[in-house]
Amino acid sequence: MIPFNKPYLTGKETQYIEDAVKLGKISGNGDYTKRCQNYFEDTFGFKKALLTTSCTDALEMCAILANIEKGDEVIIPSFTFVSTALAFIRQGATITFADSYSNNPNIDATKIEALITSKTKAIVVVHYAGVSCDMDTIMSIAERHNLLVIEDAAQAICSKYKGKALGAIGHMATFSFHETKNIISGEGGLLAINDDRFVNRAEIIWEKGTNRAEFFRGEVNKYGWVDTGSSFLPSEIIAAFLWAQIENLEDIQRKRLEHWNRYQESLKDWSDKHDIKLMSIPDYATNNAHMFYIICKSEDQRSKIIKHLKANNVLAVFHYISLHSSPYYQAKYQGKKLTNSDMFTNRLLRLPMFYELDVTEVISKILMYG
Ligand SMILES: *Cc1c(COP(=O)(O)O)cnc(C)c1O
Repeated sequence: MIPFNKPYLTGKETQYIEDAVKLGKISGNGDYTKRCQNYFEDTFGFKKALLTTSCTDALEMCAILANIEKGDEVIIPSFTFVSTALAFIRQGATITFADSYSNNPNIDATKIEALITSKTKAIVVVHYAGVSCDMDTIMSIAERHNLLVIEDAAQAICSKYKGKALGAIGHMATFSFHETKNIISGEGGLLAINDDRFVNRAEIIWEKGTNRAEFFRGEVNKYGWVDTGSSFLPSEIIAAFLWAQIENLEDIQRKRLEHWNRYQESLKDWSDKHDIKLMSIPDYATNNAHMFYIICKSEDQRSKIIKHLKANNVLAVFHYISLHSSPYYQAKYQGKKLTNSDMFTNRLLRLPMFYELDVTEVISKILMYG
């Protein structure tokens, strides 16, 4: 069976973990953590980068930093992973779900302004499949209404919007290194801060509400409890693993893009014939080949393709049951429909995508359908 995802190991992971163990400091915020954080700051232009134990955790830090309280409203796309909403729900927010574009699962920027009320505090955008949202429009709406913009860039490492790295545009952003993402550490994430106002507090929240990071830099002579927070930082063992991945980031991206381009070229005629749409990348965005998906003409057609591929030992999967239609949220939801989000729930299909993928094999199996 060709799996949908296979975590790629660069070969240096265990060597760096061994090194971290030998260095004798295996809790968080050590040498490997700093190396990773410096890399992200230098490469992508974040003001401050903090490794976290997951993207979910990084989103929780954003909700705390944004001072989200009971009664505050946060605008979030419905077509996303649970964590995007969960982090804000835990702080007591009311979620206002936004629809996708009809030809792109990202939040429809032209529909955001109508959702803003006097209680709205933040807009959380998700760069689905690593493809940028319309950030100029979103940032100018936020500025007009004095709102924070948080980028859920879990899938968006190395992607750009008009030449600028995703994650460096909003006030804060989050990334994931879960084993299904482009670079991985098993579980793992990153908080990127781009607004000076949040840098110091982010470090405190990260370290259980203490000013320990300042203490270790010698900026204060004792440390203690100064704010809310949690243990959001990963151990050096995780950071050492991630460093091996970072060292191979360019190679990983090159390989994934090769697969992506093969899919796009080889499936063109087949998709036309079956009334299926392939991914399209807006002019303002670049492609990081996090994912290759197709939009089937119906839910029924999608089921048939999944079945066909399974019979040919290829695993293709779909995801995101629109969050507004989830059992957890349904009770609170106003009953409005989000047509495009629901359409992607029913018709989007993801094809296998990972470093060691035999894309020729998968394509040949797909072309056997119909
Ligand atoms: C993967 C993902 C997350 C969660 O990341 P974790 O590191 O597993 O917490 C959140 N949002 C989106 C859009 C994702 O794809």
